[in-house]
Amino acid sequence: MSIRVDNEKFDISGVHNKFADYVVVVCSCCTEQYLHDDEHLRLYYDPHDHTKWFITHIGINDQTKHYPIPCKGCGKIDWDFTDLKERDKAETGPWRNYIRGW
Ligand SMILES: [Zn+2]
Repeated sequence: MSIRVDNEKFDISGVHNKFADYVVVVCSCCTEQYLHDDEHLRLYYDPHDHTKWFITHIGINDQTKHYPIPCKGCGKIDWDFTDLKERDKAETGPWRNYIRGW
């Protein structure tokens, strides 16, 4: 089960926040945690700076999939991410203040 974030707690300005679907994700290589908006395909990079994000939608035919910023955990340029499944890791991770309660 994906770990979702409370839109009220993760307060960014603008209309995007209202319809956003935030999920905690991890780098496939080093498990550094990030926040991904599944609705608008934005990856939030820094829990202390919500203006730091980039679009993760890249054409499916694009074989050279590169995000604009290297992973801050492992420094890889051609990194990718996957949903974090372990809730305990999210609860001790950098985005813990925004996690939706049960
Ligand atoms: Zn990494």
